Amino acid sequence: MLDRIGWANGILIDTDRTRLLFDPMSGRRLPSECSVFITHAHSDHTYGFGTTGKKYSTRETLAIHKALRKREVKNVHTIELGESVKFDDVEVKALNAGHMLGSCQFEVKTSKFTAIYTGDINCVDTLTTKAADFKSCDYLIVEGTYGHPSYNFPRRSTMYADIIRWTMTEIKNGKIPTFQVYSSGKPQEVIRLFNVYANVPVVCSPSISRSNRVYMDCDVRLEFLDSSTPEGNRTLKHDDCVYVTTGHSDHLPRKASRAVATGWAIREAFRKSTAFPLSSHADFDQLIRFVSQVNPRKVYIFTGYTDVLARQIEYKLGIEAGPLPTITQTKLFDFN
Ligand SMILES: [Zn+2]
Repeated sequence: MLDRIGWANGILIDTDRTRLLFDPMSGRRLPSECSVFITHAHSDHTYGFGTTGKKYSTRETLAIHKALRKREVKNVHTIELGESVKFDDVEVKALNAGHMLGSCQFEVKTSKFTAIYTGDINCVDTLTTKAADFKSCDYLIVEGTYGHPSYNFPRRSTMYADIIRWTMTEIKNGKIPTFQVYSSGKPQEVIRLFNVYANVPVVCSPSISRSNRVYMDCDVRLEFLDSSTPEGNRTLKHDDCVYVTTGHSDHLPRKASRAVATGWAIREAFRKSTAFPLSSHADFDQLIRFVSQVNPRKVYIFTGYTDVLARQIEYKLGIEAGPLPTITQTKLFDFN
């Protein structure tokens, strides 16, 4: 019998004899019998690397995390996409999530049920990632970041063309188009976009440069200059170029013309920035299609528009859906 699926400071799947925790939200000490899985290298998903027990991630996720944190992580077992780890009564397999380099979903297979936890997913191909895999299961735990019908993104090719057009216009007007982004995922897609479709140098801030190097080690071709090198610095000061940075607005070049790339741009205006709805998450239609392809017995939604998406899944697909329940019993999880 299925014991528990729920939120316990992370996504918990507890079977008769095995306790699995996915993307825990704290690096505090966890019970030793608990195995931790990390879906991708964005910082809100990597607290698990700080735990002392055994943990699992893809090789790419671990490499990006180490490059950004500049710190060793102990007791991590890497798992390739398509590979499984076996426990007593459970097998856990990594599936591509399409969200960024190394991002994965985890399929949990027992003799009694199969569950999939998606982490963050994107269901279309991009210049740096392939669309998320979908596989049937009994219980699907899926993100609902953009799980509202108002969040449907334009075709990726249209957004790419819009970004290139805006960038070339800004350069023509003597500006430095400057994308303010996270360190990994989106910046590499944007850099690749300019490398492929525009003949303009791309300068990156140091942390983005560090994660670029991991992408390159994993065969993603990126051409860029690091702003902390003399050549990068000189290009930023004197040449036509694009700047991709995590940097705070105080540290932008004088001629910066600011841009952001986020799904929130569909409904929000961004002060002093041009906003492109280029997201590494699935939009509403992608989420509905993904759930219909997986066709689970029940869907649990763990973030974002949990109630709205649950109602829409039930209405459109006739599949039982609801927010992921919180597990409150302290005896189940003692974090002290
Ligand atoms: Zn993410």
